[in-house]
Amino acid sequence: MSFEDNIRKVVPYVAGEQPSDRNIIKLNTNENPYPPAPGVRKALEDLAARPADFRLYPDMNAAPLVNALADKYALSPGQIYVGVGSDDVLAMCFLTFFNSDKPILFPDITYSFYDVWADLFRIPYIQVPLDDDFNIHAEDYLRDNGGVIIANPNAPTGAEADPETLEKIIAGNPGSIVIVDEAYVDFGAESVLPLLHKYENLIVVQTFSKSRAMAGMRIGFAFGSPKLIGYLQDVKFSFNSYTMNLPSIVCGTAAVRDDAYFREMTGKIVAAREDFMRELRKMGFIFHDSKSNFVFVRHPSMRGEQLFSELRRKNICVRHFSRPRIDDYLRITIGTPEQMAAVVKALGEILNLNQEGIKQS
Ligand code: PMP
Repeated sequence: MSFEDNIRKVVPYVAGEQPSDRNIIKLNTNENPYPPAPGVRKALEDLAARPADFRLYPDMNAAPLVNALADKYALSPGQIYVGVGSDDVLAMCFLTFFNSDKPILFPDITYSFYDVWADLFRIPYIQVPLDDDFNIHAEDYLRDNGGVIIANPNAPTGAEADPETLEKIIAGNPGSIVIVDEAYVDFGAESVLPLLHKYENLIVVQTFSKSRAMAGMRIGFAFGSPKLIGYLQDVKFSFNSYTMNLPSIVCGTAAVRDDAYFREMTGKIVAAREDFMRELRKMGFIFHDSKSNFVFVRHPSMRGEQLFSELRRKNICVRHFSRPRIDDYLRITIGTPEQMAAVVKALGEILNLNQEGIKQS
C-alpha cells in the first residue's frame, strides 16, 4: 500500500495558450476583442478610491450582481446563481445535479471540460455521437440517464441546435436535470431561458467571458427554478462561501446595467463573423454555419495541423484539437474586422489563392 493509492488522480482540462507576445493576433480562446462596458472602468475607479473595503469579506450572495441580472432577464433573484466564471458554475452544477449511478449524456464533440468534471466527480457518462454534420438529435437523449448537458451554440463547432430539438430533450427527461450551457448564446442564437417557466428540470448557464468581454473577471451565472438554485447554493456554501470577489461583483453589476453597449458590441462581432464566413466560403473552406463568436473550419487541401502551424508562423494564433473526427478543423475566434482581414489575407497566402479564392498555378 502506498499513499499514491489514496490520491485522487485526474487528467485535467487543457485550456488554450495565453501567449505573452502582444504582437500575436490572438484568436484561440474565444475572448472578445473589445473592452467591457465603460461603466466597468468607472466601477473600478470608485473601488480604487476605497481600498479599505477589501478588509471585509465580500457579500456571499453577490446581491448587487444577482439583482442586476434579475432585472435584465426579468427573473427573481431566487432564480439566479453566480460563480467564478461559468466553469465554476458548471462544476457546481455537475456536483449538485449529476448524483446518480446512471450515466449522464452529452455529445461526443462538445466542450471538453464536461468529461473532465465527470471524471473528477466520478460521474458515469456516455458521449453521444453528433451526426456527420455535427448536428444533435433529440432521440439520442431520450433514454435512461442521470442527467444531460448540451452546449448551445455548441463548442467547438459553433453550431446552434434547433430550438425544438432542445425542448424535446428537456421535455423528454422529466426525471433528470438538463443543463444548457449558453456560453455563446448572445451572438445570435436563441436562448432556452423562456422555457424556464415550463420545465422544472432545466438549468441555463451563461458567462461574462465572451459577450461581456470580461473573461479576466471570471463571472458566470445559472438560471433555474428557486428550488434548483437553492440546491446549488447548498452545495456552494458547503464548499466555499466567498467565491465572488468584490471587484467582480461591482464590475459585473456595471456591465449588466449597460445594455446598449452590450448590443452594439455583440452586433459588431456578429457582423464581422458574417463577413468572415463569406470570405471563408469563397476560399473553399468547409464549415457549419456559426451562431457564436468563433467558426470551426477545415479546408479540403490542407490538414488542420499544418494550417495551424502556417498561421502561427504568420503570428496568428487559433485553436486546433488533436482529437478524432475534428483534427482537420481549426477553431478561429472572431476578432475585430482588421484582425479578420489579416486572417483572410494569411489564409489566402498559405493556400496560394488569388482574391477570388481561386488557386494560383
Ligand atoms: N462553456 C463553454 C462551452 C465554453 O467554451 C467555455 C469557455 N472555455 C466555458 C463554458 C467557460 O467559460 P468561463 O469559465 O470563462 O465562463
